[in-house]
Amino acid sequence: MDDHKGLALALGEAQRGYEEGGIPIGAALVATDGRVLGLGRNMRVQDGNPILHGETSCLQNAGRLPSSAYQGSTMYTTLSPCDMCTGACLLYGISRVVIGENKTFLGGEAYLKKRGVEVIVLDSPECRELMERFITEKPKVWNEDIGVEERVYTKENLEGIS
Ligand SMILES: [Zn+2]
Repeated sequence: MDDHKGLALALGEAQRGYEEGGIPIGAALVATDGRVLGLGRNMRVQDGNPILHGETSCLQNAGRLPSSAYQGSTMYTTLSPCDMCTGACLLYGISRVVIGENKTFLGGEAYLKKRGVEVIVLDSPECRELMERFITEKPKVWNEDIGVEERVYTKENLEGIS
């Protein structure tokens, strides 16, 4: 699947989340043959669930899969993956992570690369504008989602692991 098409699926989920009053982060897991295995969006607000981020929600919706299904797959996500979602991608051996933007938040990209995952940042203005709008409107909800009291850009020590 073309990476921009995959990201569009993730962005559609993020927009749906925004319309629901939630945190607008979406994801899509696409198999190596182009099949869409799952879609998901952050459900912190909608479900009161702190572990359903875009990517983990997507993995949940994809259901139980044999490990071979993740081989060669791509996780499309509108925002740079946090530590939890970075770990989930590594756990299931997802081969590629395609990211909409990493300007509003920078997650575990360097660690993913270090572990052999292909990481592509598409620098999507649509993804960034949606997150900026949300963070401006609901800064407290956003801070809650990333586990801080005040906004941070990254907790990653890039020098230590790159
Ligand atoms: Zn996450």
